[in-house]
Amino acid sequence: MTTNPKLAINGGPKTVEVPFKRYNAMGSEEVEAAAAVVRSGVLSQFIGCWDADFYGGPKVQEFERACERHFGVKHAVTVNSWTSGLVAAVGAIGIEPGDEVIVTPWTMSASATAILHWNAIPVFADIEPETFNIDPESLLKNITPQTRAILAVDIFGQSCDIDRIMDIAESRGLKVIGDTAQAPGTFHNGRVTGTMAHVGGYSLNYHKHIHTGEGGILVTNDGEIAERLQLIRNHAEAVVGGKGVENLCNMVGHNFRMGEIEAAIGVEQLKKLSRLVETRQKAAERLTGGLCGLPGLRLPIIREGCTHAYYMYPMILDLELLGTTRAWILSALEAEGVQGLAAGYTNIHQLPIYQKKIAYGRGGFPWTAEFCKRDVSYAKGICPVAEDLHERTYLGFEMCMHDLSGDEVDLLVAAFRKVWGALGK
Ligand SMILES: *Cc1c(COP(=O)(O)O)cnc(C)c1O
Repeated sequence: MTTNPKLAINGGPKTVEVPFKRYNAMGSEEVEAAAAVVRSGVLSQFIGCWDADFYGGPKVQEFERACERHFGVKHAVTVNSWTSGLVAAVGAIGIEPGDEVIVTPWTMSASATAILHWNAIPVFADIEPETFNIDPESLLKNITPQTRAILAVDIFGQSCDIDRIMDIAESRGLKVIGDTAQAPGTFHNGRVTGTMAHVGGYSLNYHKHIHTGEGGILVTNDGEIAERLQLIRNHAEAVVGGKGVENLCNMVGHNFRMGEIEAAIGVEQLKKLSRLVETRQKAAERLTGGLCGLPGLRLPIIREGCTHAYYMYPMILDLELLGTTRAWILSALEAEGVQGLAAGYTNIHQLPIYQKKIAYGRGGFPWTAEFCKRDVSYAKGICPVAEDLHERTYLGFEMCMHDLSGDEVDLLVAAFRKVWGALGK
């Protein structure tokens, strides 16, 4: 199997000699927009009390109105990161200590930490191997009398089965938070991904399709949720009195406010979103064309009616058929000069915080608190699909981190074909 002398791993020539071009979403428009804010001297205009400036400065408001138009929602609320956005969303829907919120372990850790932040309990449901998103059957099995919400992630760039999830939620009286950090600018049955949940949103971190360095945008069509998001973003406890807010549940505020420079850059980035997503879709289509037919390599599956932003280009290996391990394939491809390969997410429930159940303080809070009605399990085996993908069979390419030209895609294909040519020999 490893005896083909031509492979770079065995001392042969590399397929990819020049590193792939890194993605840079910034252009002269962003430079100008940022410079204009600096010249104005107003780098932020928020004030943490009930005042005209409670909603922030001119660029923050301009960016929020632009997001409302672009995503087709009634309310957009900017924040200083999408992690902050998720924390605000969990608080805004009224999650209480001990409530259970269902999420998957196949996502960025912040999707679950946002739940813990309010002393609620993350419960992990398994994913569908086709889309890597939450499996509605596993979701149903994990609903208990304590369940209050579902945090549904649109992982790698395509929507979860949001219609089914909203049906399940409505029939059980649950709220749904969408985490569309990786799938901005995509569609699900003609509707904008990220806008169908009760509250959702997008990351503007520099790893994502469009960014402001750090930042996030919350979207909702619910006026009451929007108001609560604005309060949690901006010192709620100091504002509720003046604003006359009666529902004080989770009115513990933060400073999650976006600066004016980031907002001005965001306005320009938003204009480019569909074009930037399209470049990834074109590269992915070319990659799929080149890789299709390779035995034992499952290429991305796109659900009917969905578009994919290819934050990641996700593949699955059939190791029995290939007769090797993922570690060997990864080493062989990396030796060929391919960068940006990934073995998928360490399942969140395997992180020490959940394995040891130590979050706030040393005493096992919140799991040991009286308000926790049952012992939630984070044992290995609770999410067999996600666990096996991470441990053995998932292979991803970080499409969003690169700006692949057609020639670069062809080199990536050549590297895979060369390594595959040596398999089974
Ligand atoms: C990036 C990401 C986040 C966190 O976003 P930040 O803006 O970096 O805080 C949360 N969830 C998912 C799925 C992400 O990819």
